[in-house]
Amino acid sequence: MIVVMKPGCGNDAVGRVVERAHRLGLREHLSVGEERTIIGLIGDVRKVDVAALEAFPGVERVLRVGHPFKLASRAFHPEDSIVAVNGHSMGGERLAIIAGPCAVESEAGYVEAARLVKEAGAGFLRGGAFKPRTSPYSFQGLRREGLRILARAREETGLPVITEVMSPEDIPAVAEVADVLQVGARNMQNYALLAELGGCGKPVMLKRGMAASIEEWLMAAEYILANGNPRVVLCERGIRTFEGYTRNTLDLSAVALAKTLTHLPVLADPSHGTGRADLVPRMCRAAVAAGADGLMVEVHPNPEEALSDGPQSLLPGVFAELVEALKPLAAAVGRTL
Ligand code: PEP
Ligand code: MN
Repeated sequence: MIVVMKPGCGNDAVGRVVERAHRLGLREHLSVGEERTIIGLIGDVRKVDVAALEAFPGVERVLRVGHPFKLASRAFHPEDSIVAVNGHSMGGERLAIIAGPCAVESEAGYVEAARLVKEAGAGFLRGGAFKPRTSPYSFQGLRREGLRILARAREETGLPVITEVMSPEDIPAVAEVADVLQVGARNMQNYALLAELGGCGKPVMLKRGMAASIEEWLMAAEYILANGNPRVVLCERGIRTFEGYTRNTLDLSAVALAKTLTHLPVLADPSHGTGRADLVPRMCRAAVAAGADGLMVEVHPNPEEALSDGPQSLLPGVFAELVEALKPLAAAVGRTL
């Protein structure tokens, strides 16, 4: 870390920075130039609060060399991580294809949808029991009853289940049923939830916040890792931009970039990423080409009647065609389906 001091800032200002560095267990290297002094901080600089240090008198700028995350970084773990999911896995050569309705709406409907996506080639089932909705008047999910239905669908299909957990107190109930716990975009920076998921004993899929930088996303993953859970999977689900034709802007450069910064598997969710069923197949192909380790796709047997996210949900037949179309593409980038 480099602290650039203001020209003529005086020795007292330099001394204060050095004193703070020592208190944090760091060493310093001073470079005293004709105009200004530059202080190199050496040691574990992750605990340095950059903004606080920038507010010190005489400090012009603080530059971080390297990344503020460690456990999530490629430097820490150069190989791609493969996350074990109850006899299945995410990351590595085989693409993880997660599919299912946005929400669990009824037992018969969900089990039927689960059978159809399995037949089409999905490797994991999705379905929200606890739904984070913009409006409190919208369908909030079947909650505990939804979890029971998810367990039943897993029994019927043998596919692992991924579902969202919205608050720390629901973790035990969700973890009892889910094979992967999902942190939604809206909760990406719910640090109490992330810390608690460190001890949940199940893999966690962390979706990128809709206004989160890539670094903030990886720091959120770091929370789960640093609290003791090494099984973390990332999912790019689109960010807010000025564009109005799509619900979000699916940031595929974030997928490509995250793959260079972290060893964790990185998935893409073109359903929430575009909000439009007609764009989902193309963006799934683009995500695989960009290096995504898997896809999350919303599929509903009757999208017009869906209680949430119908406009972005594929019909099961369209999803089946998509899976077929992905096979040669996956092979072309050294992946299997
Ligand atoms: C979801 O996948 O069910 C969901 C709510 O997505 P996001 O958190 O990305 O909006
Ligand atoms: Mn949805």
